[in-house]
Amino acid sequence: MGKKVRSNNIKAKASNEIFCESLRPFVKSRKKIWVENGLFFGYPKCCIIDFCERDFNMTIEQEQVHQNTGFVPCPKCSKKIISGQETLKSLIKNRFCKKPFSKHV
Ligand SMILES: [Zn+2]
Repeated sequence: MGKKVRSNNIKAKASNEIFCESLRPFVKSRKKIWVENGLFFGYPKCCIIDFCERDFNMTIEQEQVHQNTGFVPCPKCSKKIISGQETLKSLIKNRFCKKPFSKHV
C-alpha cells in the first residue's frame, strides 16, 4: 500500500468516526451495524442514513436503480443516477472493503 493511499484511508477513517459519533443519538443500537457496514462498503452517508430511517420501504426511483447489488441509494442519489449525473458505482467512495463493488455488495 502506498503512502498516499494510507493517509487517505486514515482521513476517511477519521471522518467516519466523527460521522458515527454524530449519528449515535439518532440511530437505535440494532441499526449501528448497518451504519458500520455501510461505511465499510463506502456507501454515501446520506444513503446510509436513509437506509436506517426508511425501514425497507423504497421509492419508485430507488427500486429502479439498486439492481440487487445490496446497495440502495437514498431517493436523492437515486434521482441523480436516473438523470445520468451518477452511477451506482460512482457513488461508492472511501471504501474499506478490498473487494470491488458489484462483486461483493
Ligand atoms: Zn444518498
